[in-house]
Amino acid sequence: MTDSQPIRILDPRLANQIAAGEVVERPASVVKELIENAIDAGAGRVEVELEAGGARLIRVRDDGGGIGEDDLPLALSRHATSKIASLEDLEGVASLGFRGEALASVSSVSRLELVSNVHDDPTGGWRVVVEGRRMEPRVTPSPHPRGTSVTVRDLFFNTPARRKFLRTEKTEFGHVEEAFRRQALSRLDVGWVLRHNQKTIHQLRPGGDLVGHERRLQALLGKAFLENALHLDIETGGLRLWGWVGLPTHSRAQADQQYFFVNGRVVRDRLVAHAIRQAYRDVLFHGRHPVFVLYLEVDPTVVDVNVHPTKHEVRFRDGRMVHDFLFSSLHRALGEARAGATPDGEG
Ligand code: ADP
Ligand code: MG
Repeated sequence: MTDSQPIRILDPRLANQIAAGEVVERPASVVKELIENAIDAGAGRVEVELEAGGARLIRVRDDGGGIGEDDLPLALSRHATSKIASLEDLEGVASLGFRGEALASVSSVSRLELVSNVHDDPTGGWRVVVEGRRMEPRVTPSPHPRGTSVTVRDLFFNTPARRKFLRTEKTEFGHVEEAFRRQALSRLDVGWVLRHNQKTIHQLRPGGDLVGHERRLQALLGKAFLENALHLDIETGGLRLWGWVGLPTHSRAQADQQYFFVNGRVVRDRLVAHAIRQAYRDVLFHGRHPVFVLYLEVDPTVVDVNVHPTKHEVRFRDGRMVHDFLFSSLHRALGEARAGATPDGEG
């Protein structure tokens, strides 16, 4: 038996580094969190820049509402958020973030710089720098257009065990690009740029109409996706499902082009996956996977997003109803497409 040790409260930096284990796995997770913050700030344009797959540098710039001088150090503290203040807020949360943990976590395992400006006057910006949270953040004036730039350098520089888990530059960039793709699909109304090692990989104009949306789909998912996809938009009883689903003739060997968003949030959910699988059951060969980009819009109070730190999971208050709505909408759309495609079909 070991001797009893006194109980201690963890030093805040260590607590943040432990929390970082949950949300910061690799550059792609940092990119996801920073983009979510940009979206929550109401950005109309988001620029993501990387060096060395993100291991050396990740920078996300937005033209959103910005962070005021007094709030800058707070933005980096744990459990500090401007997005919710009460349990009631949490239950109806519409923002992507609300845990107040991302910046604290990221800044505990990197060299982080935050520059922001809430004014239209570009000289009104402020800057704060932290290095693995060794010192108290100091706020100094710094010019910046209205909005925010977060720069994350040398991810995991102070946690060598985690740093070792990073894969090659190409692999890490692949994960970043996928995270970017999801977010760029989640908000078709926002303009996006992705640069890697000074090269522009994606430059996406904010697309207002169907033509613009489909241009983006093609840029992100390829021509074959669009040529074989069916556009749908169905609304009943407070639920709206819209987007694109692949024709059964265009399945894939892997489930790698499946995007489902609930109120703009990227979601991987068993109930949703099941409903879609059921709808395709009779029209797809066994072992093949459908492609889709689907948007479900529901009242935020009927869906719980506080299920997991990465917020990829949701819980619907009435799962059965959502399941049935998804299944019947897709089943009908696919049935109509099939009927239309065959000369002896009914429609
Ligand atoms: P959360 O997003 O859960 O609130 P974060 O740690 O990601 O927690 O961010 C903390 C706070 O910092 C946010 O609530 C927000 O007020 C502010 N913030 C972070 N990024 C931005 C940004 N790009 N633009 C404006 N405010 C931001
Ligand atoms: Mg956040």
